Amino acid sequence: MNRSKALVVYSGGQDSTTCLFWAKKHFAQVEAIAFNYGQRHVVELTAASNIAKAAGVPLHIFELDLLSSVSHNALTDKDINVESDQPDHRPPNTLVEGRNMLFLTYAAIFAKSNNIHDLITGVGQSDYSGYPDCRNDFILSLNQTLNLSMAYEYRIHTPLMWLNKSEIWRMADELDVFDLVRNQTITCYHGIPGDGCGTCPSCKLRNRGLVKYLNSEANGQIE
Ligand code: ZN
Repeated sequence: MNRSKALVVYSGGQDSTTCLFWAKKHFAQVEAIAFNYGQRHVVELTAASNIAKAAGVPLHIFELDLLSSVSHNALTDKDINVESDQPDHRPPNTLVEGRNMLFLTYAAIFAKSNNIHDLITGVGQSDYSGYPDCRNDFILSLNQTLNLSMAYEYRIHTPLMWLNKSEIWRMADELDVFDLVRNQTITCYHGIPGDGCGTCPSCKLRNRGLVKYLNSEANGQIE
């Protein structure tokens, strides 16, 4: 089995970029896969391409616009506003149902045809925001299903699964890509790079973690 080659499910955001560099540290050969699924801002894919190029990682981008036509959500439908809060604890309206399952499934198909067994995804459940397919139980289940469906042994790695945003900033710093992640990635639901708009749920989460991490560094504290 080839354990030297890994495939990162990539989006150009903070989490998957941190994973990209984590992968470079742990695997001799890294490739990345990204999907155009009608997300609001194709600028994300431009960021993904630029970062992957700078990192020396081949990036394969595939069209998956079916995802935005089978259901509607604020991330792919420009007529739906991004909610800043969910008062009744339901998932945010930026949830794209089934997205991670589809991404990982397509990534797995691509991986098998390229003799890759190790898949890396930046999902996590510490800052659980109501996306069921970010949870560890789902990843373990899908790993088993993929193995059975293609009679092939996959290993899905989730280096961020148990980290909060502040700890993800620390990981980027330890991987020597803090500035790159801070300035070049796009996490904002409005497609604004770096620190973003500051008001959408994604920016709030990212920036809270950043402030917490910078404060802990300034105070010399280990959280
Ligand atoms: Zn934002």
